[in-house]
This record gives sequence, structure tokens and C-alpha cells, in this order.
Amino acid sequence: MSILVVGSVAYDTVATTRETRERQLGGSASFFSIATLGAAEVRCVGVVGDDFKQEDLDLLASRGADVSGIKRVAGKSFHWSGRYHDDMIERDTLATELGVFADFQPEIPESWRGSEYLFLANIHPSLQAHVLEAMSGPRLTALDTMNLWIETTPNELRTILGKVDVLLVNDGEARQLTGKRSLAHAAEAIRAMGPTRVIVKKGEHGALLFGTESVLAVPAIILDDVVDPTGAGDSFAGGFMRSLALSGADRSSDDTPYRQAMLDGTVTASFCPEGFSVEGLLGIDDAGYQKRMNTLRGMMVP
Ligand code: AMP
Repeated sequence: MSILVVGSVAYDTVATTRETRERQLGGSASFFSIATLGAAEVRCVGVVGDDFKQEDLDLLASRGADVSGIKRVAGKSFHWSGRYHDDMIERDTLATELGVFADFQPEIPESWRGSEYLFLANIHPSLQAHVLEAMSGPRLTALDTMNLWIETTPNELRTILGKVDVLLVNDGEARQLTGKRSLAHAAEAIRAMGPTRVIVKKGEHGALLFGTESVLAVPAIILDDVVDPTGAGDSFAGGFMRSLALSGADRSSDDTPYRQAMLDGTVTASFCPEGFSVEGLLGIDDAGYQKRMNTLRGMMVP
């Protein structure tokens, strides 16, 4: 099974109360790809500048991502900078320097257009729509977005929402998108916009799946230490899509594979905050993964 992801491939500067790390590997497509753990063929579409280190592309490739769809062009790579509050939950975005990302026109190689699974990571909704149009009918399309697009490009976002199967958003974004306070009402309103399934991420409080025949609430794994939560949402998406690809689920499947995918997303995402950048994800091995899956299941049964 193959998964195509289009998103940012970036350098992030992250400040926490303990430490600041400058220009480390980040971007939604980077976290997503590594989180798929080489279990499916992951095809990355993105753009980087001439400052982007080859070793970072090599790292993605060494983790099973096909990076031949990441174009290198003259200019600076996308750079995001944020500072976490003491609680390691709230963060302030200090800078978003688009660089070469400003003129990004995703090009999908001919041989990738038949990819079975499509993840439209958080980029301009028109670019997401452009990518979806180039594909020849994926089994399943999932979409991520953010407050920026909800505020600045609501019409474009509505158009693409009408064409995808799954939306992943955080609770604040779900409320902002729909104007509904209740998450159940927000999910209902989102489903009326197009996606048949909605995942509402609630950070340290876990995530909700509003499926076609059921609702599932999955807690987040309780971590001893949070170093840098940047990318946890994209890591969740990577684990979620890996799970669906491995089970061969499509949009007409019942909720069963989606419920399992919620657990895989949660377990995968739990490794991300344990290190800066993608370091936490790089530490995942089979035994550690299984141990956390057992912990999670243990948290969910009476
Ligand atoms: P998350 O913590 O899951 O929200 O993801 C954070 C990642 O998203 C960082 O690695 C950033 O480089 C990337 N990011 C932040 N803002 C944007 C944006 N406007 N467009 C695309 N990617 C972004």
C-alpha cells in the first residue's frame, strides 16, 4: 500500500523553558513520514530551499520515505519558530517565514497519482485541492488544517472539505470552523460539510473519533517528561494512516479499522514529545511500541 503526503518540510526553531533548539528538522510532512515507521510506501511531496541539508533528506529516506517528490529550489526553506509556555501545551508562534514555500506548486509525479492513501497535511487549501485533483481516486483521503486557513481562506477550505473522507483537527479548530461549542455538534456540522469521519485531537486529553456508526474517545498516554510537543499532531496522522493502509481500509469500511487506527495514532504520537524535532519518533522500536499499546489498552478497560 502506498501513502502520498503533501505538506511542509521545514526547519523549526523551538524554545522551551529548559532549552532552545535552532533550525531543526520539522514540517508536517517530515513528522508524518517518519511516523509511518516504514510500514507503507510513503511518497513525500514538498519543497525545500538550497539551505536544506542533504542529511535531513537522507534521514527521511532512511526511514522509508520516498523523497524524490521534494523539490529543491533556490531560496530559504520554510522556517517556523515557536515558544512553549511552562505547561508545555500552550505555544506562541514567533515566526512563520515561508521562504520557498510561498511559491510552492505541488507537482505529483505521474507514477504517484494512483497512490491508495492521500494525506493532505496542513497547507493552503487551494494547494490541497490541486493535489487531490491530480490523483486518480485514492481509496481514502484525510486532511489536516489550522486556524490560519479557517480564518483567511474559509471558502477554499469549504471546497476541499467537500471532497475528503476524514478531517483531523484539534478541538479549538473544530469549534472555530463550525461556531459550535459542543464537540459533538461541531463534528456533526463538519460531517455536513463533507468528511464522513472527524477526528478531534485534544492534546494531553487524547482524541475523539466521530465515525459513521460510533464515537470513540482515546486518552493520551501519560508521559513522564515532555521535551517538545511540536509535530505530535502530524505524528498522530502518520500512525493513523499507517494503520489504515496496513488494514487495507477504505472509505466504505465500517468503523473497526478506524478505531484501531485511533490507537495507533495515539501510541505513535506519544513518542514525539519525548525529544526535540523528530528525535522521539526515531526512538520507536517494536517492543517499545507494543508496550505503549498495552499501556493504552490498559487505560481504556475497566
Ligand atoms: P503540530 O505541532 O502538529 O501542529 O505541527 C507543527 C509543525 O507544523 C512544525 O514542524 C511546523 O514546521 C509546521 N507548520 C507550522 N506552521 C505551518 C504552516 N503555516 N504551514 C505548514 N506547516 C506549518
